[in-house]
Amino acid sequence: MNDSERNPPSASSGQALDMEKLVSLCKRRGYIFPGSDLYGGLNGTWDYGPLGVELKRNIKDAWWRAVVRERDDVVGLDAAILMHPQVWAASGHVAGFTDPMVDCKACQGRFRADHIEEDRCPACGAVGQFTEARQFNLMFKTFVGPVENEAAQVYLRPETAQGIFVNFQNVLASSRKRIPFGIAQIGKAFRNEINPRNFTYRSREFEQMELEFFCKPGTDEEWHQHWLQERFNWYLKLGMRRERLRLRQHAVDELSHYAKDTYDIEYLFPWGWGELEGIANRTDFDLKQHQQHSGKGLEYFDDETKEHYIPYVIEPSGGVDRTALAFLADAYAEDAAPDAKGKEEPRVVLRLHPALAPVKVAVLPLSRNEKLRPQSREVFDLCRRAGIAAEYDDAQSIGRRYRRQDEIGTPLCVTVDFQTVESDQQVTIRDRDSMQQVRVPIAGLVDALRERLGVD
Ligand code: ATP
Repeated sequence: MNDSERNPPSASSGQALDMEKLVSLCKRRGYIFPGSDLYGGLNGTWDYGPLGVELKRNIKDAWWRAVVRERDDVVGLDAAILMHPQVWAASGHVAGFTDPMVDCKACQGRFRADHIEEDRCPACGAVGQFTEARQFNLMFKTFVGPVENEAAQVYLRPETAQGIFVNFQNVLASSRKRIPFGIAQIGKAFRNEINPRNFTYRSREFEQMELEFFCKPGTDEEWHQHWLQERFNWYLKLGMRRERLRLRQHAVDELSHYAKDTYDIEYLFPWGWGELEGIANRTDFDLKQHQQHSGKGLEYFDDETKEHYIPYVIEPSGGVDRTALAFLADAYAEDAAPDAKGKEEPRVVLRLHPALAPVKVAVLPLSRNEKLRPQSREVFDLCRRAGIAAEYDDAQSIGRRYRRQDEIGTPLCVTVDFQTVESDQQVTIRDRDSMQQVRVPIAGLVDALRERLGVD
């Protein structure tokens, strides 16, 4: 965590979003609910509702496409969450994955020592009441099998990366890949964060999208540059505002024990700059460690140059939840739109990129009149058959339905009216951002939607 997570940006940064509004929209519309809400919640956990699950899926698909499918030098993996405990000894997590922690003697609250300012308790305000700092390991422990003893103790993985390192040889032997190549994985990770905060930004259970790109030592800096650019551009291509994104190089004293050089891609959240993704040069640290702890050779043999070496690794490591939160925050806007009678009304709109929007097209009959229904359902089926994520809605007035679609980020609405069914077989496409409305024949609707959504 960097300082900005605690110190909100100055007014000059142009960030006006009130997080409470976003949190409330997410719950009201079914993006994100507090975990175990029914029982009062479980701190640091979040449940993704019908729209949230689609948003996350779209983010993961976009990542997988860019990092795996559209390249010929990266393959995928889905490793187990529970791993041999030696993995975490080798990786350094057992000894070093800790945060310094203090307890307040006045209120018994527990806080990260490096988050305390002026020796004052952030909960009760007591000054100078803290215990000595103790190191607290962030890994969740559990047991495999029926006996709860030390021999059976395992951890929920705190990162997906190690599943990739321990499968390096398996993938190499089975995939016909040669260095340079990468292994990508998306999956859950768990960290017993002392102070979960800022909505989903710092959770105890979250999803990571990680790539370990193996290359020949000496080519690592070039590959690092390559991945910095690829990853930064990925956010831009999905519509994130350039001025709210930055690349920040770690200072030498900030580098993790395994890293030679690291950059963070950061987003300007309402509370300040926060990391979305770290892109580290991990050198040969992990493979060497696993070679030593497992006693198995993890050297690579280059059959062209006849050299043996342990590859270096470039690791872009991002979080699905933080990325989703950043896209939501970036998309949130309040403006005005004409209602059904042309009067300007305030609206909340999520300007999500069409590739990320959970619903791409809403099919809206002008009213619930029976005459409109069959043709409206046909238009809806047409969209679905074409693979366009569509929603059918005929409840409430058309104005309210537009508002709802704006608020959940649907890029296009298709309205079926009496003219459609009685005379011209044309429907109206309404654009969320420009608010422009055009009439198109139903026969050409799918092409018109695809063109506007930018999908094929
Ligand atoms: P931070 O400094 O914010 O704790 P980190 O540097 O420890 O993050 P990494 O270990 O680099 O994070 O993890 C890679 C990515 O996983 C992060 O960039 C972030 O997107 C995601 N991530 C890490 N911890 C959390 C968390 N507690 N909640 C949600 N996402 C997380």
